[in-house]
Amino acid sequence: MNNFEKLKLSPNMLQNLKDMNFVEMTEIQEQSLPHSLEGLDIIAQAKTGSGKTLAFGIPLLQNINVKSFLIQALILCPTRELSDQVATQIRKIARFQHNLKILTLSGGVPMRPQIKSLEHGAHVIVGTPGRIQDHLGKQTLNLKNVKTLVLDEADRMLDMGFYDVINHILESVSKKRQTLLFSATYEENIKTLSKNITINPKFITIKQEQDKKLVSEIFYKVQRDQKFEELLKLLRYYKPLSIIMFCNTKIAVQEVTNLLQDAGFSALDLHGDLDQIDRTETLIQFANRSCAILIATDVAARGLDIKEVDMVMNYDLPRDIASYTHRIGRTARAGKSGLAISLVDKNHLQKIEDYKDNPDIREIEKINPDKNIKLLAPMKTLCINGGKKDKLRAGDILGVFCVAIGLLKEDIGKIDLLDRYTYVSIKKEAFQKAIKGLQNTKIKKRSFKVWSL
Ligand code: ADP
Ligand code: MG
Repeated sequence: MNNFEKLKLSPNMLQNLKDMNFVEMTEIQEQSLPHSLEGLDIIAQAKTGSGKTLAFGIPLLQNINVKSFLIQALILCPTRELSDQVATQIRKIARFQHNLKILTLSGGVPMRPQIKSLEHGAHVIVGTPGRIQDHLGKQTLNLKNVKTLVLDEADRMLDMGFYDVINHILESVSKKRQTLLFSATYEENIKTLSKNITINPKFITIKQEQDKKLVSEIFYKVQRDQKFEELLKLLRYYKPLSIIMFCNTKIAVQEVTNLLQDAGFSALDLHGDLDQIDRTETLIQFANRSCAILIATDVAARGLDIKEVDMVMNYDLPRDIASYTHRIGRTARAGKSGLAISLVDKNHLQKIEDYKDNPDIREIEKINPDKNIKLLAPMKTLCINGGKKDKLRAGDILGVFCVAIGLLKEDIGKIDLLDRYTYVSIKKEAFQKAIKGLQNTKIKKRSFKVWSL
């Protein structure tokens, strides 16, 4: 691996990467950045978790002139969660850059506030194709000055039927631009799309072999009518701290979640029927360790960067190898090791061959689970009805908890500040003290409503 200092980056950018503990480049970064920083178009094939966001975020930011209040970069992502995640990560790598405005435009929320924000100007737009097209139709978005266009998880966008929408959007984007296209697969439709939208692109492929070793993939034979009991055995045997479990349908997701909750496990579901706030709160609770098991459909979990999942479980085998690769990519992120376990119907063992050569197939009867163990989360989430727009900062909240209420710093976990709400994860043992304390304490001389999620 290589060091970021080899690249032609501004001193601010370098220092900030260092502050964020990004020292070594990942392979996709190492192979693409030297070319993308020269302004070349890139078509890169790399799987989830390989560090693509930095690979496009860095060149995109180096091209922006903050003094000009024109939209200079457009990032298209398949889902709104992914857009939010990309925006958050880009804000972090750009935090030295004052006055840089990054705006997300994705569906599921009203257009009016987005239009208001657009009127105030933005440098970078991150969004989903559908909503971007809606804005273009209303003429509330001008992409004539875009210098960098990014398609993140392009294969997923095409899977979701965005081919025509993307081509339509591109008619409104400046032709004098750099295009960076990232995709986990490189099938015919991606080839056609990339040919149409790039000029003399540099092709980059990251072979999966190196990463693959880090994920141990195990297949367990299960009996269809006892699948849930067998799942419990596996969970009680492996005792993962944090796990994402995939089912093929929303209904299965809900069923398994209910069964796990009834068995006393800490579990939450993530699927397309939930409204925006529920999805956000679920993801926050999973990431801040207030939930041990996240049960999701493929679409809902697509592209999400969730750190430190030590196990991925395929409760249902996915329908194709691309989904399988995406799913198991949720563990062993950024070079860590992980475990991917798939439950396979005893009568359909031949299916495994589609997913893996020389698969490691095991029998559940041979494992020896801890009978009464439940997977529980160490933390609990406290919610405050004030956020960034109320000028709250993580420091203020930490201060109140540690100084006025008398919690220990170790009792407090992740603090997520949204515009109007703040979510604080607190060790379960300290939770009562925290919530009682905050109900009787002001933050920055103001009283806020406080409740537990
Ligand atoms: P992808 O988009 O390819 O799925 P991300 O860009 O979301 O991957 O990165 C996955 C994780 O790896 C993120 O948590 C990110 O912060 C981390 N990461 C990315 N680049 C580096 C790096 N050079 N060094 C350490 N961690 C990194
Ligand atoms: Mg990504």
